[in-house]
Amino acid sequence: MGSWEDNVRRVVPYTPGEQPKITNIIKLNTNENPYGPCDGVLNALSGLNGDNMRKYPDPSVGALRSALAERNGLAQEQVFVGVGSDDVLAMSFLAFFNGEKPILFPDITYSFYDVWADLFRIPYEVKPLDEDFQICLDDYRAPCGGIVIANPNAPTGVLIPAEKLSTLAAAHPECVVIIDEAYIDFGGESMVPFVGKYENLLVVQTFSKSRSMAGMRIGCAFGSRKLIEALNDVKYSFNSYTMNAAQIACGVASLEDEAYFRETLDRIIRTRERTKERLRGLGFTFPDSSSNFLFVTHPRLQAKELFAALREKGIIVRYFDKPRINNYLRITIGTDEEMDTLIRFLEEYRPL
Ligand code: PMP
Repeated sequence: MGSWEDNVRRVVPYTPGEQPKITNIIKLNTNENPYGPCDGVLNALSGLNGDNMRKYPDPSVGALRSALAERNGLAQEQVFVGVGSDDVLAMSFLAFFNGEKPILFPDITYSFYDVWADLFRIPYEVKPLDEDFQICLDDYRAPCGGIVIANPNAPTGVLIPAEKLSTLAAAHPECVVIIDEAYIDFGGESMVPFVGKYENLLVVQTFSKSRSMAGMRIGCAFGSRKLIEALNDVKYSFNSYTMNAAQIACGVASLEDEAYFRETLDRIIRTRERTKERLRGLGFTFPDSSSNFLFVTHPRLQAKELFAALREKGIIVRYFDKPRINNYLRITIGTDEEMDTLIRFLEEYRPL
């Protein structure tokens, strides 16, 4: 007789960035937005009552889906929502990658993709980024089981023009092409306008970064009616009520304040550009970033040591101990003041 342990689904889980318990730190490790959501979101939260708790939420999440549809010039049937884009992406992998052929994604990208592929036993192949951390779209030409591209890519911040990705979607009617736009609002052109054109294109976005609501867990996807119907079938086969009353109310409120959204985005972009200049001045190099983080290296510094030295001073950034990127640090763009503190530290840093 065997043990129950023989039947356990073994997975190597994704490791999320650290959420330190200590306060009084500068937290630049998980690409959070330093400004917080608009007032409308907090008002929506305090407007909830016992009835919202007592009753099940709307399983179709109609209010949030229709607000997202309206903002993007789509029908509600072309919008899916979930518990952060992690949930949306996981459901998408489960729904769309069910063939024998491998799915394709870059070797350096969001490190959850291979975890979901392993979890759902989806065959996959990784395609190496070139020396400059650019995605080589030529590697994605052959028929395959699916394609997943983060645009801008993470952790590099590198953007591909929407036009090029639309060629990719057009070239692969045999599979679903997922474009993960977690960081698109910080400087890229979204693929959402193309979802009416390509039935196989799914564009995934999140409220965690540009809308400063990582703690609220709201993600969404845009696609053809058929794709969204397939996604909903999987969702309803798994958990009808993924989105709670607070997520729905706060998500809608965030979409209602476009001015605040634009203003905080502009601030982050300005701080990013300023930080790029200052880091260049200190000898750091990095691929040009269109996101809210920079992926930096330095010819004379060891990233791992610098990571530890920053941590010692209460400045937390992200270090990935992985081939090709183990001499890089990913630094989230915080406020101007936070970035000034970081730069001051770097100016004085003399490795032991
Ligand atoms: N995609 C990418 C590329 C990310 O970096 C992240 C953030 N870890 C996510 C998706 C998931 O974000 P969330 O679940 O908070 O929407």
